[in-house]
Amino acid sequence: MTKEQIAQNFAFVREQIREAERASNRAEGSVTLCAVSKFHSAQAVLSAISAGQTLFGENRVQEAVGKFKDVALQSDKPFELHIIGTLQKNKVKKAVEAATAIQSIDRAELLPQIEKYCAVLSKRIKVFFELHTGEESKSGYRSRDDLFLTLEGFERQLYPHITPAGLMTMAPFTDNEGLIRKSFIELRETRDEARKRFPSLPLNELSMGMTSDYRIAIEEGSTMVRLGTALFGPREEP
Ligand SMILES: *Cc1c(COP(=O)(O)O)cnc(C)c1O
Repeated sequence: MTKEQIAQNFAFVREQIREAERASNRAEGSVTLCAVSKFHSAQAVLSAISAGQTLFGENRVQEAVGKFKDVALQSDKPFELHIIGTLQKNKVKKAVEAATAIQSIDRAELLPQIEKYCAVLSKRIKVFFELHTGEESKSGYRSRDDLFLTLEGFERQLYPHITPAGLMTMAPFTDNEGLIRKSFIELRETRDEARKRFPSLPLNELSMGMTSDYRIAIEEGSTMVRLGTALFGPREEP
């Protein structure tokens, strides 16, 4: 895609988000756009930055680190990177160095490692807990109880450098709008329940909504949509 096409896509998507906010009586600007640049080039990211985008999401730490090193060399505008794919333990250090948030925490086991590297770098990081809400997706916490057990660690202040910012999910890949909506409702209700149980934790964010379903996600309370295809076109995945 050309730089102009990418700029047009951003303008279109931002307008769609504003419209969806209005349609569901939500404040303008209450939904943040995370631009998912996985499998797209540093050049595509630079085009997005020129179009005013600052927040990017990447699945794979290795790919993200290389790409955003190139981006930083070619642009002096600030950007933020969120890791949105399942995190391997041996990638935690690199992830902590490169990202301001990890949206795909699916087990408590990752947290002591994240805390350790944040402490070394004197850096705070945000995490989102991924909940498994749709049959097709493989990742995420399977049960609320496991998630709540993880949150107890935050209540006991085991991770002073980590902010538990919210929850994330992927809806099932289906045309069945009812199933998609159910998935988003489950995430919202789990977030609300978690906030009731753990009032000292922020847990504000609901990261939900991708290219095919972000309007539904915004209707159901999404605070962050993660869009790739709508912004950068189709990916060539290996
Ligand atoms: C790839 C990906 C997205 C973006 O998907 P699109 O359908 O291209 O918008 C969002 N979230 C996660 C976790 C992804 O892996």
